[in-house]
Amino acid sequence: MKTIGLIGGMSWESSLEYYRIINQEVKHRLGGLHSSKSLMYSVEFDEIQHLQHIGDWDSLTRIMIDAGKKLEKGGADFIVICTNTMHRMFEDVQANVSIPLLHIADATAQRIKANGINTIALLGTKFTMEQDFYKGRLLNNHGINVIIPNEEDRNTVHSIIYNELCQGQINQPSREQYIRIIEKLKGEGAEGVILGCTEIPLLIKQADVSIPTFDTTRIHAEMAVTLALKA
Ligand code: GLU
Repeated sequence: MKTIGLIGGMSWESSLEYYRIINQEVKHRLGGLHSSKSLMYSVEFDEIQHLQHIGDWDSLTRIMIDAGKKLEKGGADFIVICTNTMHRMFEDVQANVSIPLLHIADATAQRIKANGINTIALLGTKFTMEQDFYKGRLLNNHGINVIIPNEEDRNTVHSIIYNELCQGQINQPSREQYIRIIEKLKGEGAEGVILGCTEIPLLIKQADVSIPTFDTTRIHAEMAVTLALKA
């Protein structure tokens, strides 16, 4: 079994989910007392979110590269970045370590295509919804068209992520807002929705909406287990 290296803490609410899903999945696949070999390097999220909101992506890149190197030194066989947003610096981290990284959008794209879906809605932080690193990868590497909410709805989705979900608050009025936004995107042609922030699956479940949901936390964690167990 390979050792999974996790860059976590963004936020720790979702890192817990990664840890839980990875171990449950190993137990599910191997049975008994089996569990995952893993290392997590967990960052200080207040520092991260501050740098994100002032647009200091250079400092963030340095922090992520440093985290990747620490995991490599610690004995990880491959790396999983436990947040969609911080995949913005995926290539920079990959260029500075000699072990592979598993991209969350590639893992998600495989599932989307397996479901025969071509046009997908994307919910996540404003960084993920608005910048090109995520949407561009889905379109250019996987041929998947991405629809995002309008500006007002993007602000709502973003603010609920940082002010509630990353602080462990799961609120029904926010769930209703997300459902309204997802159903609106369905009306605009979305055949499914990417829960493209690793805390959103804490709020939205498949049963809440009428189109297929793609839980990036679960998909990424399951893919990590598949890689860890591959001979
Ligand atoms: N966990 C979130 C994501 O998947 C947001 C936190 C962050 O900014 O990294 O994008």
